Amino acid sequence: MHHFPDASSVVRALAPDEPVILNRPHAAARAARFFAETFPGKSLYAVKANPSPDLLKVLWDSGVTHFDVASIAEVRLVRAALPEATLCFMHPVKTASAIAEAYKVHGVRTFSLDSHEELDKIIAATLTEDDSPAADLRLCVRLRVSSEYSELSLASKFGVDLADAAPLLQATRQVADWLGVCFHVGSQAMTPFAYVQALERVRAAIVDASVTVDIVDVGGGFPSVYPGMEPPPLEDYFAVIHRAYEALPVSYSSELWCEPGRALCAEYNSLIVKVEKRRGDELYINDGAYGALFDAAHVGWRFPVRCLNEGRAGGLEEFAFYGPTCDDADFMKGPFMLPADIGAGDFIEIGMLGAYGAAMRTAFNGFGQGEVVEASDEPMASLYRGDRVDPRRSDNVVSLR
Ligand SMILES: *Cc1c(COP(=O)(O)O)cnc(C)c1O
Repeated sequence: MHHFPDASSVVRALAPDEPVILNRPHAAARAARFFAETFPGKSLYAVKANPSPDLLKVLWDSGVTHFDVASIAEVRLVRAALPEATLCFMHPVKTASAIAEAYKVHGVRTFSLDSHEELDKIIAATLTEDDSPAADLRLCVRLRVSSEYSELSLASKFGVDLADAAPLLQATRQVADWLGVCFHVGSQAMTPFAYVQALERVRAAIVDASVTVDIVDVGGGFPSVYPGMEPPPLEDYFAVIHRAYEALPVSYSSELWCEPGRALCAEYNSLIVKVEKRRGDELYINDGAYGALFDAAHVGWRFPVRCLNEGRAGGLEEFAFYGPTCDDADFMKGPFMLPADIGAGDFIEIGMLGAYGAAMRTAFNGFGQGEVVEASDEPMASLYRGDRVDPRRSDNVVSLR
C-alpha cells in the first residue's frame, strides 16, 4: 500500500479520478490502546463498524483481543485474519447453521440471545456427540434499553423487555457456564447517563430473576467527534459505567465488557472525492449514498470536510453534495462548509469515515471503485489527542448528573 504524508500529497501525486480511501493505522492504534488501558473491563471490537482485515490487525496489535461478530461471514473473516482472537457472536437472531459452525469450527463460546426460541436454537446447534448440552457456553441475554440519548437508535429491533426478562435469564442460567446480560444504548451516545440508565435496568432484571450473573456487557454506543456533535471525554463514560457496575448484585468474579465499534475506528479513514460539477450550492462528487457516505445521505450525518486545492481561498459557505449514481436519493444535505469559490475539478477530503463509512461502499450503478492508501497525518478530529477542549464548558450537551 502506498504511503503519503496527507491527503494533499495524494492529490498532487495521483490527481485521482476515482475516490481514494485514506487509512490512518496510527489513529486506530491510539484508540485501541486507550480502550485497552482505560476501560475498566474488557473491550470487544464490534466488527460491523469496519471489517477491514488491515484494521483488525492494527487493533489486535494494540491490545484488542476480543471481537464482537454478528454473522458467520464476520466469524470466518476475523478467524482468518486473527487465528487467536476470541470471537463473541452477539447478534441475538442467528441461523442454526451459523451457530453450529461458529461453535464447532471456529471455537466461539459466547453468544447473545433475546428469546427462548434463540436459546433453544443455540442449545440444539451446540449439542455434543452424545447429544448432551454443551457445558462451556457463555450466553448473554440482550435487554431492551432506551436509545433516547443516542443519535442512532438501536432500541426497537432487539432486546427482551424488562417485564419478560426473568424467565429468560433463569432458563439461560440453567444451561450457561457463564451468564451475561448485555444491551446497546444506540450509536453515538452523547452522554454517559445513557449507560447509567441502562445499568439500572440491568439491576432490576438481575434482582427480579435472582440469578448469578458473570458478565455485564454495556455494548457499543461510545461516541466519536463530528461537526455539531462534541461528546464529553470518554473517561467520563468509563467512570460512570464503572461506578454503576460496581454497585450491581453480580458474582464476585464477574467481568465488565463493552463493544465499541465507532469509537475504535471512526478516525481510521478519510476519503478524497472530486467535484465533477457545481450547481449553485450543490456539488456533484464521485462518492455518495451507495459509497462511503451512507449515513450522510440516509440520516443526515455531518462529516468534517476540507478543500484540498490551495488556490481556493474564499470564505467558507454551506454546500450540499450529490453522489455519482443516477438516484435522486444519492444526496447529502450537510451542510458541508467549503470555500465559496470551490468548483468542478477540485478535490475534497471528507474526514471521520472509518466507522460505518468505508464499510458501507457498494458497486451500485458501477461506482464504488477506487484506491486505498495510507496517510500519516492526524485525522480531521480526534477524541484521543488529549488537547481537546472539554465540551461541557459550552452548553450543547446534556450535563452529567
Ligand atoms: C453495532 C453494534 C455495536 C457497535 O456499536 P457502536 O455504536 O458503533 O459502538 C456493538 N454491539 C452490538 C451488538 C452492535 O450491534
